[in-house]
Amino acid sequence: MQPSSLASPPRSGTTRVAVLAENTVATRDLVAEHGLAFWVQAGSARLLFDTGQGLVLGANARQLGVDLRQLDGVVLSHGHYDHTGGVTEVLGLVAKGIPVHAHPDALQPKFLRHAAGVRDIGIPAPRRAALLSASCSVVLSREPREVVPGVWTTGEVPRRHPEETIEAGFCLDSEGHRPDPLKDDQALFFGTAVGTVVLLGCAHAGVINTLDHIRDLTNGKPVHAVLGGMHLRNTSEARLQWTVAALQRFEIGRLGAMHCTGVAASVALWNAFPGRCVACGVGSTFEF
Ligand SMILES: [Zn+2]
Ligand SMILES: [Zn+2]
Repeated sequence: MQPSSLASPPRSGTTRVAVLAENTVATRDLVAEHGLAFWVQAGSARLLFDTGQGLVLGANARQLGVDLRQLDGVVLSHGHYDHTGGVTEVLGLVAKGIPVHAHPDALQPKFLRHAAGVRDIGIPAPRRAALLSASCSVVLSREPREVVPGVWTTGEVPRRHPEETIEAGFCLDSEGHRPDPLKDDQALFFGTAVGTVVLLGCAHAGVINTLDHIRDLTNGKPVHAVLGGMHLRNTSEARLQWTVAALQRFEIGRLGAMHCTGVAASVALWNAFPGRCVACGVGSTFEF
């Protein structure tokens, strides 16, 4: 799909977004985990963007009245366990075969090297095997894709800002020698009458790289809302300040810093964008 085709008119009608997995909860009777999952209802189409670790997805969906059996597709932002762990549970609930969209590198083994050793943080092995089995329709793409009418993945995000480096420690081997460039990291977006709405997984590619890519794909349309993980929790003060300044370029109306954004970065964003930041946890819902 060529980027020019993304300059199409915004989605008509309301698109609903609900948070099904996140590190915090917004209301009672819901459960948090280190992970992220969004339910997206665009017209009659229902999507999951990420599936969390899988510890809380089913219970939170039931509590929120979300029927996962009605899903039309799953999009994985990248191949880390906290975004992909629930994928086989979800596929097991849906009677019809539905596509699982991901970048090919999402299926690679993935590890994190830290002081105590190297830990497996990829798609949990049985779930990866299930995804690769013939019964599953995994759609692998490095390019942007329209996954349901009007809702797009970014595909691979060009790394145009040297400030947005990958955090040290992410690697592709259990010895911790081969750095993981996390090319699989992608976001989901859709157009509205007031601008583009962007859902981030972890934004390992960099939130500014991601937003600049989306602006290019949409012929410069304004960015109305950004919700999701920005992976700034271990970042330097210099990068944090650069990110906050760069975000000002987008005139974002609603900003939900979630999941792996980190407390210091969230505080900086709430101070820098007064009246525009929104708290997002499990149970938060949005209409665009
Ligand atoms: Zn991640
Ligand atoms: Zn994450």
